[in-house]
Amino acid sequence: MSDTVEEQTLETRLMEFEVVCRRCQSKWQPPIARFVNAGTDPDARLGILLNTMHQSYCPHCKLKQYIDTTFEYYDPEQNIVIQVRPAWEFKAGGGENYYFKRFEDLIMRYSKTDVRVDVVFGLQELIDKYLGGEAAVAAAQEEWNARRAAAVKRHEERTLAREAFEPETPEDGEDPSTTA
Ligand SMILES: [Zn+2]
Repeated sequence: MSDTVEEQTLETRLMEFEVVCRRCQSKWQPPIARFVNAGTDPDARLGILLNTMHQSYCPHCKLKQYIDTTFEYYDPEQNIVIQVRPAWEFKAGGGENYYFKRFEDLIMRYSKTDVRVDVVFGLQELIDKYLGGEAAVAAAQEEWNARRAAAVKRHEERTLAREAFEPETPEDGEDPSTTA
């Protein structure tokens, strides 16, 4: 390992992640967030609260897959980078000691960057500790419903507008291209 620690950028970064369907063994590569900046990508916060983050559907058999991978979440308001690791790792890794090991690694990695850091295991811990818990989940649900209702309304208005303004089919239509 190198001695020099570089300043970490705080921009959203995606990676392609290979998923193998556990039912039909198809493979595909959905883009997965490795680093989320909640300031520039507020929808990521919504996706976490609605539990739709890091889900992908098999293109072949449509089975829903959860992609249980580690990513980092940056909240500019709290000026903190939170490493979100799979929930099962905590017990499997050895509990508190494992947490402190990961925490120390993260402190090292961000030692040149002016942010606080923490490590959580699973999205639920992220939500409870940093995203506002149940109240935030309820608010996200409401926001999502409102957005969906607005989208439906827009769609209905477009349909109405189309019906109102669509030109009548010309009677006895002469094809202009054939007129000399
Ligand atoms: Zn499949």
